[in-house]
Amino acid sequence: MAGTRTRSDTNMSGTLFVISAPSGAGKTTLCRQLLKKNPDIKLSVSYTTRQPRKGERNQIDYTFISKSRFMKMIEKGEFAEWATVHGQLYGTSIKRLKALNRAGYDIILDIDIHGAMQLKKRYENAVYIFILPPSAEVLKERLVNRKTDSKDVIATRLDNAKREIPFYKDYDYIVINDKLDKAYKELESIIISSRLMTSRVDPNRIKKLYKIK
Ligand code: ADP
Ligand code: 5GP
Repeated sequence: MAGTRTRSDTNMSGTLFVISAPSGAGKTTLCRQLLKKNPDIKLSVSYTTRQPRKGERNQIDYTFISKSRFMKMIEKGEFAEWATVHGQLYGTSIKRLKALNRAGYDIILDIDIHGAMQLKKRYENAVYIFILPPSAEVLKERLVNRKTDSKDVIATRLDNAKREIPFYKDYDYIVINDKLDKAYKELESIIISSRLMTSRVDPNRIKKLYKIK
């Protein structure tokens, strides 16, 4: 429960779960399942300049905006982090994070490694999770089978994956998404155990429960 925590991220009482992965590893699939089963966790909907894919909804999957609007938001300091990923701009709105936090939710941020490293400086108590595919071959297969990207885009994403994977060392947890059920269980276990950390329990709640000082 978000309201029971004390030692927290800068201005954040809930927990931020920052999740990164090379494109095609299954991050969206895992996050969607997590959000569906855990109504107390919400996705931080990012802003992006990329075009929507088939089936993606504006304001739900992303807020799709023009490059000039994105640049204005950077100028005004509206992003907690932003980065250029696969040639497009993506950013996390400070206003949205604050609103979700005020409403008592824990928050999932599905962002790339550069964004995650920026957030580490700002929210040191966030939980950093890296999702990996079982192999480079499977990663390629998943991107091809997803049928959402052209050959060129897939080649760029595979190329970027080689640079991104070594960053797993900067994360708190690693989940290898081979069998989806197992990976999901592991991800959910991370969320559950992070919420049980002593540092996230309100000492006043314990005092009240056991009538101790
Ligand atoms: P990402 O968000 O990391 O780019 P997606 O969630 O879109 O990746 O997954 C890429 C593709 O792989 C999708 O077609 C998805 O259905 C599929 N996929 C995800 N996880 C698994 C898995 N464990 N086994 C097989 N296919 C998977
Ligand atoms: P996609 O275009 O496949 O949805 O996302 C491409 C990459 O951009 C993914 O690695 C995703 O995590 C990342 N991404 C999505 N939103 C943000 C954001 O707000 N900030 C950053 N830094 N990366 C993001």
